[in-house]
Amino acid sequence: MSCIFCRIANKEIPAKIVYEDDKVLAFHDINPQAPYHILVIPKKHISTLLELTEEDKDLIGHIYLVMNRLARELGVAERGYRVVVNCNEEAGQTVFHVHFHFLAGREMHWPPG
Ligand code: AMP
Ligand code: ZN
Repeated sequence: MSCIFCRIANKEIPAKIVYEDDKVLAFHDINPQAPYHILVIPKKHISTLLELTEEDKDLIGHIYLVMNRLARELGVAERGYRVVVNCNEEAGQTVFHVHFHFLAGREMHWPPG
């Protein structure tokens, strides 16, 4: 299997995991862009947001609730956090397994780069 995030989900390569359940895995980004930079992925392989289907609606809602929980556990819920999902090349997607960037711990800028 060549997908790096499937390999992390299968524990074939290591990651600093902060949350896991049967559907979702959350781990620290290897190249953090903020004091807290966690990637939340579905364990199921979905290449991009465009590949989401009706059957994934609960899964995506669940991912937002996991990030909600992370924000509280990390103590950044009130200060704030940002969620970013890049879809395809022009948006900056480099790993083609859907992942939600959870970013927190510093002031975020707008518009994003
Ligand atoms: P994107 O550019 O939106 O596709 O984001 C891919 C993210 O995955 C980047 O922020 C990378 O730093 C991160 N990344 C790539 N490989 C790994 C890895 N093995 N463990 C953790 N994060 C990774
Ligand atoms: Zn994958």
